[in-house]
Amino acid sequence: MNSISGKIFIDWGAFAARLAPVEVIDEPALVKKRSRDFFWYSPILNEELKGCFGDLVAVPKTVEEMKHCLQVAHDADVPIVLRGGGTGNYGQSVPVEGGLIVETTSMNRILDVGDGFVSTEAGALMADINRALQATGQEMAMFPSTQDIATIGGFVAGGSVGIGSLATGALREPGNLIEIKALSVEEQPQEHVFRGEDVLKVHHAWGLNGVITEVTLRAVASRDWIACMATFENYRSAYAAGFAAASANGIAPKMVSVVDARIVNYFPRLKGHLSDGRDLLACYVPAEDVETLLDLIAEQGGQLELTLGDADREAAGIPHVFEFCFNHTTLQVLKSDRSATYQQVNVPDPSDADALVALREDLGDDVWTHHEFIRLGGQVVAIDLPIIWYSGKERLDAINRTYEEHGCAVFDAHTNEVERGGIHTADYTHLAWKKRLDPKGLLN
Ligand SMILES: Cc1cc2nc3c(=O)[nH]c(=O)nc-3n(C[C@H](O)[C@H](O)[C@H](O)COP(=O)(O)OP(=O)(O)OC[C@H]3O[C@@H](n4cnc5c(N)ncnc54)[C@H](O)[C@@H]3O)c2cc1C
Repeated sequence: MNSISGKIFIDWGAFAARLAPVEVIDEPALVKKRSRDFFWYSPILNEELKGCFGDLVAVPKTVEEMKHCLQVAHDADVPIVLRGGGTGNYGQSVPVEGGLIVETTSMNRILDVGDGFVSTEAGALMADINRALQATGQEMAMFPSTQDIATIGGFVAGGSVGIGSLATGALREPGNLIEIKALSVEEQPQEHVFRGEDVLKVHHAWGLNGVITEVTLRAVASRDWIACMATFENYRSAYAAGFAAASANGIAPKMVSVVDARIVNYFPRLKGHLSDGRDLLACYVPAEDVETLLDLIAEQGGQLELTLGDADREAAGIPHVFEFCFNHTTLQVLKSDRSATYQQVNVPDPSDADALVALREDLGDDVWTHHEFIRLGGQVVAIDLPIIWYSGKERLDAINRTYEEHGCAVFDAHTNEVERGGIHTADYTHLAWKKRLDPKGLLN
């Protein structure tokens, strides 16, 4: 068997045999498919990563099988990449060094559901976790819109916030991640258990400093969530209404998103449900808060377009409203036009709609803003995930500078280095644990 990556020249047939009884995938087309994630959102990452492949995929079903994979790779000095659903946006699960891809999706048991928590294996899909919680009147404190194909291990290792974060904060905030079990990559892989604040030692380390096998997460009481969509004459009004809804005392939304009218044109499945050419406010609020929200929308000059419970939504053939929000907004545009890309930007003062108007003027017509409101440390904050019509790195840099000149922090979505993207600075705790849990530096 040849090296698919063109980087690791060992006898891959013999290596695969040593992995038995673990299921392996060696068909080059399938290995190449599992070497990709959603890095193609970024034209820059696409250029850098489109030619990077692993050499073999292992699909362990149990922790024992996972240990065996790690042992064999450790013994042969083979680089390892962990992969859940492969929905990360920064090429985190791309095997840049080649080697073994370990796919976790068969380690997917839900182990325990209790009052305020759920424990699962790392490869469980978040939609399945939410289904298991539903039976107990609960739901995940937050989840990404990719829940149907993304794993909890991938979210804990690579994600940060999601639907629910306006109510419960970021994944890293106290109480959201209760316990993480992770294996080291050594001759005899050891299990390490991280609880409380210690979970941050492996959370958002992109699978570089330990192999997550189990997680225990916060669950919250489920509400009768109603999706509301309203449109506004201009972005300022939609944004101001969004901030008001996110911070109002009498409303407890789990998601508030504001989307530029030009982006809404790329939502064919909402055609006929929304007035054309207007900026969009999309929210999830508990049924008992709908009246208050509708009053707020009217006060802010908005026009109500839809209020939908889940059954009505399904009957109307409309996707989940969260499929038009967070990073799904970008996906809706990319489905029609691959020349779009995006960025991740923190807004300095979420209450200042006038500052946003000035920023939008300076950004120009190739940047279409889209804001999500979330809660960090108890405060409402706004993040902008704009659609950017990509015309080259120079222009992207200029756009980033414009944001920065307006006091915004850019968390670059066009890098596959954890320090330059979601985290901004090197996390020395992550690095220390990498030395300890992955002494040979095989996880990449
Ligand atoms: C349309 C769209 C919407 C999205 N929305 C959000 C969002 O709202 N919030 C958000 O945070 N993200 C979002 N994302 C990014 C991504 O979907 C999520 O972070 C998701 O949870 C990743 O899960 P996954 O199973 O696909 O992980 P993968 O992409 O497979 O892996 C992600 C990272 O985790 C590592 N990893 C996977 N499993 C393990 C393990 N067991 N142990 C150690 N490391 C592991 C991988 O090596 C990789 O570095 C979105 C992406 C898309 C394409």
